[in-house]
Amino acid sequence: MGKSDLDLKELGFGTLAIHAGQTPDPVYGAISTPIFQTSTFVQKSPGVIVEDYDYSRAANPTRTALEANLAALEGGKYGICFSSGLASIAAVIHLLKSGDHVILNDDVYGGTFRLFDKVFQQLGISHSMVDMSDTKALEAAFNPQTKLVWIETPTNPKLKIIDIQAVAKIAHADKVLFAVDNTFATPYLQKPLELGADIVSHSSTKYLGGHSDLIGGALVVNDKELSDKLHFIQKAVGAVPSPLECFMVLRSTKTLHLRMDAHCKNARQIADFLKQHSAIEQVMYPGLPTDPGHEVAKRQMKDFGGMVSFVIKGGLEKSRKMLERVKIFSLAESLGGVESLVDHPAIMSHASIPKKMREAMGISDGLIRLSVGIEDSTDLVEDLKQALS
Ligand SMILES: *Cc1c(COP(=O)(O)O)cnc(C)c1O
Repeated sequence: MGKSDLDLKELGFGTLAIHAGQTPDPVYGAISTPIFQTSTFVQKSPGVIVEDYDYSRAANPTRTALEANLAALEGGKYGICFSSGLASIAAVIHLLKSGDHVILNDDVYGGTFRLFDKVFQQLGISHSMVDMSDTKALEAAFNPQTKLVWIETPTNPKLKIIDIQAVAKIAHADKVLFAVDNTFATPYLQKPLELGADIVSHSSTKYLGGHSDLIGGALVVNDKELSDKLHFIQKAVGAVPSPLECFMVLRSTKTLHLRMDAHCKNARQIADFLKQHSAIEQVMYPGLPTDPGHEVAKRQMKDFGGMVSFVIKGGLEKSRKMLERVKIFSLAESLGGVESLVDHPAIMSHASIPKKMREAMGISDGLIRLSVGIEDSTDLVEDLKQALS
């Protein structure tokens, strides 16, 4: 009786997080998956290899364990890991060819926009950006060359909620591939494959890694043919994560459920605090009953996540002051780590989006984004209180 006998379908998220993909090492019985820090594997006879392992760009046992683990957490069959979130997005775009067209949500992650706009556009892959809460606008954006719909929900930095099932229905009516970047929600809070997505994408740099100490990406799919194509791109293009990075993500997913519960609990308290503060113009958090995305979020998410955005009265001057005064929150890009971060999208994370477009997207100079960590919530609220006073 070994772990390979476990029926993954019957297990809860925490059990999967700790056990899926991770059988004890057959040689010494090590309980944690070893870091197979090797480029090549010795062959018994020419072409006779152990399992699939002949060269670590093609496959590595630490990576295989992580791919199985993430697939199980997303409720999918196949995981494919990459050296960064953007490398996993690029792998999906490599499924397309010159002349194809992609539809993105209008406030997609800045790096995703840059990848389409500056890299793949010149290779003949065009894109449209659409407010996905408007299904008529989405339907109108399709043309005969449309091959992929790509969304994030909650979106960044405005934390808008997109109805995954509604978009899946529209994309599939046109036989178009539908991908969801699940970085902000994580599989603990939201499972896009179960809601109709064909591909789930992650920057494991964020909540999956969870400790602000690695860069990584992953895709999860259910379709064997799609998985084969993406594994081929992974090997052929070569943006693979190192065995050490894979080990670190595997170590982190074991506590994903615990961390996410703590992130969500703290974020809710901070959103409530900001909501009643006189220096704040608007709070964006799908957990607030007044938030426009609340009803859909309640339907498709288990909880509302650890990200909170808000608009401070007084624009750039006031936000700069607040950002310089925080003590526990650190002024930094990125998100999803155990420590709380604060970001000024217009100057920091979303600076790669042209100013005109940023303004059209509502990324004003007073907009501030918090990645709420898992410190004690009273300390976090006190820190914001003194920074805003
Ligand atoms: C960070 C991020 C990415 C890019 O991931 P990297 O690991 O930085 O390459 C993609 N999508 C979202 C939603 C992100 O937050």
